[in-house]
Amino acid sequence: MTTITENTRIILARIHEFEAQYNRSTNSVRLLAVSKTQSADKIRAAYNGGAVNFGENYVQEALNKMPALADLGIQWHFIGPIQANKTRQLASHFHWIHSIDRLKIAQRLSDQRPSCDAPLNVCVQVNLSAEASKSGVAVAEVADLCRQVSLLPNLVLRGLMAIPAIMPDFKQQRHCFRGFAELFMSLEQEFPRFDTLSMGMSADFEAAIAEGATVVRLGTALFGPRI
Ligand SMILES: *Cc1c(COP(=O)(O)O)cnc(C)c1O
Repeated sequence: MTTITENTRIILARIHEFEAQYNRSTNSVRLLAVSKTQSADKIRAAYNGGAVNFGENYVQEALNKMPALADLGIQWHFIGPIQANKTRQLASHFHWIHSIDRLKIAQRLSDQRPSCDAPLNVCVQVNLSAEASKSGVAVAEVADLCRQVSLLPNLVLRGLMAIPAIMPDFKQQRHCFRGFAELFMSLEQEFPRFDTLSMGMSADFEAAIAEGATVVRLGTALFGPRI
């Protein structure tokens, strides 16, 4: 557990170093600790190292862990594929949803968001590599989906998320993230609440920060390999 706490501190320091190195302003990049398959104790260890935002991929797994962590004030983000029959639980237990890829899901989340809660923060997930196996909306359809989502009363459209194909080469990673950042910038004026570019994982977060990520989603770098 102390390793996870220590790793989290080291990674937060590295994020700050990359901000400085790539002329990003201080604290412009947030760490989203991806805690899928990790126990509540491990999540607590990462929290003790400075992580506040946690990302989960499986609804039931996340709901099982949340009660044991209720004392911490964690911001919960959902980053996995969304099934329509899970939207009610998502709308009541999460602060952010990064993986909106169709209007029907967004409508259900808006309808089901409890009225006592602040509007739900959402990002539209973009399929950059056009691989049939990966979720996300095609680049050509992003603007339309954003327009429709931005009209829903109980959602706030905060930006875009993508999971690009793994590329070993740093220059290739930057090139891919740059294209995504350009798409984001082309929409920023139309959507005033846009402030979130969710890109970069353990293997490529330096390139993502270099190209303008405001959220990096890191699992392995904090918790070690998932078993
Ligand atoms: C699992 C996952 C991550 C974290 O991946 P690592 O390579 O372990 O950092 C980030 N984003 C999404 C959407 C994921 O599913």
